[in-house]
Amino acid sequence: MTTSAPQIDRTADEPNVIEVPNPADGTIVGKVQIDTAETVTTKVADLRRHQPAWAALGPSGRKDWLLKFQDWIFDNADRITATVQSESGKARVDASVEPLFVADLIGYYARNAEKFLAEQHPTPHNPLAKVKKLTTVYRPYPVVGVITPWNFPFAMPGLDVIPALTAGAAVLLKPSEVTPLSAVEFARGWTEIGAPPVLALATGRGGTGAAVVENVDYVQFTGSTRTGRSIAKACAERLLPYSLELGGKDPAIVLADADIDRAAAGIAYGGMFNSGQVCISIERVYVEAPVYQEFVDKLTRNVAELRQGQDGKDIEHDVGAMATQTQRDIVARHVDEAVAAGAQVVVGGKPTGVGTFFEPTVLVDVTQDMSCVQEETFGPTLPVIKVADADEAIRLANDSQYGLSATVWTGDRNRGEQIARRLDVGAVNINDAFANLFSYALPMGGWKDSGVGARWGGAAGLLKYCRVQAITTPRLPTQTKELLWFPYS
Ligand code: NAD
Repeated sequence: MTTSAPQIDRTADEPNVIEVPNPADGTIVGKVQIDTAETVTTKVADLRRHQPAWAALGPSGRKDWLLKFQDWIFDNADRITATVQSESGKARVDASVEPLFVADLIGYYARNAEKFLAEQHPTPHNPLAKVKKLTTVYRPYPVVGVITPWNFPFAMPGLDVIPALTAGAAVLLKPSEVTPLSAVEFARGWTEIGAPPVLALATGRGGTGAAVVENVDYVQFTGSTRTGRSIAKACAERLLPYSLELGGKDPAIVLADADIDRAAAGIAYGGMFNSGQVCISIERVYVEAPVYQEFVDKLTRNVAELRQGQDGKDIEHDVGAMATQTQRDIVARHVDEAVAAGAQVVVGGKPTGVGTFFEPTVLVDVTQDMSCVQEETFGPTLPVIKVADADEAIRLANDSQYGLSATVWTGDRNRGEQIARRLDVGAVNINDAFANLFSYALPMGGWKDSGVGARWGGAAGLLKYCRVQAITTPRLPTQTKELLWFPYS
């Protein structure tokens, strides 16, 4: 394992530099330059020049480079983990998952790309059409802009950059200004293995992101619903294709026949992993009345046992800091507003530590209209609501602007699958949390305000970076003129 520090720009004191603090203790851990509209334009022009040769390598030629990049990630996993942790403040274990997730995803697409990108020959629809050979070709967008949020500083870039590169596109990656240093690592790895220069980085705030949208051929955005809306408008102006992975407010439904020990353990994990800063975190829990108290008692015990620490650096700690002060303030507001409206905090409930830590929190006596149930919290809180039956749970689960994913906890797996088909969300896990995230073969994406055109995983997650081209070729020698051509006879 290499141990040297990440290569970041420490040269300039100019105003066009972003200083990156560790939110767990406020120390500055790095700096990046802000890319301007001019530098973004130049970077896209460079990528555009190199992309045809990358596409010409074909899936097997590109696979060699992607597998070299996978080796680089394994070799540098400790340093990547340290960079992720220092700029996000998350727990060490949470940070260590990120390089492994990207390496695993590379393996999936490396194994399957040739199959997914293979030309298709659809069967003609009638005997007359049989005189033509039909061919479908998947040709990558030349330059894809990937704009990412701060919750998984290394994994989020990987989730979209890897399939885009695999498809044969060049990529301009614009990471969050909150956590750009892990993306610097990502781009550094691509350069260090000597791969073709088809991955570049644009660092900066929203203005840099807007310049990316102005220059690329396809936009893949992951972030808040508010920013997604403004990107959709900018794309509409340029008639640019895009996909948006947006916010969530994932419900968990606990039925009376569930294994309550498993549900309480799984929901504690689903709500608190990464300090609740996961788009598919469990953010509200509906529990059937007969098992409500048993569930709340067991959930409370599990959450109370979580080890938080004060700097999050210890491998023993379960829950780290929030990525920003703003994010911690949102969590505190949701808890305070719930309490003011009659909810009870059974464990946690307040900020803690020197940085941006918030105690893992369980709320009861919660009602559907509270902000902690209606708005995305993106923090370590689990509001629990008692329901009469599964129908009421489904109705309340669907009563949301979001539709990202959901979990159902039941002793009857068939019933769980039937309930899944009544939930208006892009993915459902039965008796598990986050299982869809590690099931790369499953295409998925958010519904309602949680996404537009969003697909990741499976063939769909690769093919969205391609334009489909249709080719017809005569099967037989042709005549001078077809029956239907001029002059009509
Ligand atoms: P954000 O929308 O504030 O920022 C995301 C990115 O967009 C950043 O890189 C930012 O610089 C950039 N940006 C801001 N304004 C822009 C503009 N006008 N044009 C182009 N780019 C612009 O989101 P965030 O606070 O960084 O991330 C948290 C959000 O991300 C949460 O809502 C979470 O649910 C969502 N998220 C969704 C998924 C998913 O798969 N659905 C995954 C992770 C996070």
